[in-house]
Amino acid sequence: MEERKERRIIMFPLPFQGHFHPMIQIARILHHHGFSITILHTSFNFPDPSYYPNFTFRTIYHHNEEQEDPLSKPDASGMDLVTFIRQLRQSYADPFRESLAAEVGGGETECCLVSDVVWGRTSEVAAEEVGIRRMVLITSGVASFYAFAAYPLLRDKHYLPIQDSRLDELVTELPPLRVKDLPVMETNEPEELYRAVNNMVEGAKSSSGIIWNTFEDLERTTLMNFSPEFQGLIFPVGPFHKHSENILLTTKNKENHVTTEWLDKQDPQTVAYVSFGSLADIEEKEFLEIAWGLRNSQRPFLWVVRPGMVQGTEWLESLPCGFVEDIGHRGKIVKWVNQLEVLAHPAVGAFWTHCGWNSTLESICEGVPMICTPCFTDQCVNARYIVDVWQVGMMLDRNKLDKKEIEKVLRIKEMGEGMRESCLNWKKRASVCLSEHGSSSKYLEKLVGHVLSFDSYAYAS
Ligand code: UDP
Repeated sequence: MEERKERRIIMFPLPFQGHFHPMIQIARILHHHGFSITILHTSFNFPDPSYYPNFTFRTIYHHNEEQEDPLSKPDASGMDLVTFIRQLRQSYADPFRESLAAEVGGGETECCLVSDVVWGRTSEVAAEEVGIRRMVLITSGVASFYAFAAYPLLRDKHYLPIQDSRLDELVTELPPLRVKDLPVMETNEPEELYRAVNNMVEGAKSSSGIIWNTFEDLERTTLMNFSPEFQGLIFPVGPFHKHSENILLTTKNKENHVTTEWLDKQDPQTVAYVSFGSLADIEEKEFLEIAWGLRNSQRPFLWVVRPGMVQGTEWLESLPCGFVEDIGHRGKIVKWVNQLEVLAHPAVGAFWTHCGWNSTLESICEGVPMICTPCFTDQCVNARYIVDVWQVGMMLDRNKLDKKEIEKVLRIKEMGEGMRESCLNWKKRASVCLSEHGSSSKYLEKLVGHVLSFDSYAYAS
């Protein structure tokens, strides 16, 4: 490790699992390259800093902390996410500015702020005020961000708001996306969704660079198509979790151990691993269709059901009496797993996923084919690319979540030799990108140089 500890990077993650983890992963990578790291984190979802002993954590409190408000909930399950993110931005904008101002100007030299792109201009204003350069971290893929950046065009051409009569129509300006793949989400505040997306895209454009958790081989065409405004300032240094600083960092808890023991008893490539990530929730009716589909498929399965994931229930209580006993050892239902370990296990033959970007990358990197049931936003774009472009998965539309259809899809054991081959090919390409002379390593070197070139306090000049 190079000694450059007096140079500090301040990070401002979005407080959701799928955003926080990639921020921590890039923090480890940059720390390994000699930077000290301070993480400004919202009081909402504040992590346990003892897991990250190399970093300094500071809590940002919002001003209504003591009142009963949505941000005092332990997570965002069941929330209108557009509303929730608006509340986050509004509640933490001023406290973040104050925290950043308090950080900057101490003994160390702050190189820059790395802020999650979803904070948009919230972090831009704060960085300008204290005179520090700002880079953004994008934790989704390039293709979906490209679609977000095209929102004004999509609205002009009346693709948005989505009309049911046009769902299967190709978006000719963004092939291979169809109208139903556009990255939107259900909300009571549709105009706020447009505002937030615009704010995010503009915040990326005005930044001093974009750090991207993707790799060049995977998204080369989309990266090249990206508007010239971003060119030269894009650093696709992913997949972050495969950098040496991030591997072997497994959490050994009791539940993991039990899951691994169960996986060890299954035949190679037979298990369907099922997880819809950390935010998506499903209706009770869908939950039961999934349960019966899994049971009837006769295929071994490992299913993550987050407490609160099934609307209106605590955990598994809506399953019919005797269901779990009936499945016996063939299936396992858990609250959480170490997904990286599960995907790397030889028994896992397919990943039934909501296609969150981290899950997508993690599956690709382990060569595991996917069954895609996207729920909202970028997941829909990712699913289309998984199926049509990278050819590492098949679609199981959410509106077709019926036990017979599920059973049929799960019984396709090998999901086609071609698909597995394609997966292994992408796995190889990811390692090539990460190798010493690969694109991700080169971009990382460039990124370190770029950050070091920032002259602290020179932003305003
Ligand atoms: N994850 C995990 N255990 C689980 C479910 C998810 O470790 O039981 C991790 C997964 O490895 C991934 C993240 O949670 O890194 C989910 O991020 P993703 O972008 O896939 O989806 P999101 O949760 O943001 O919708």
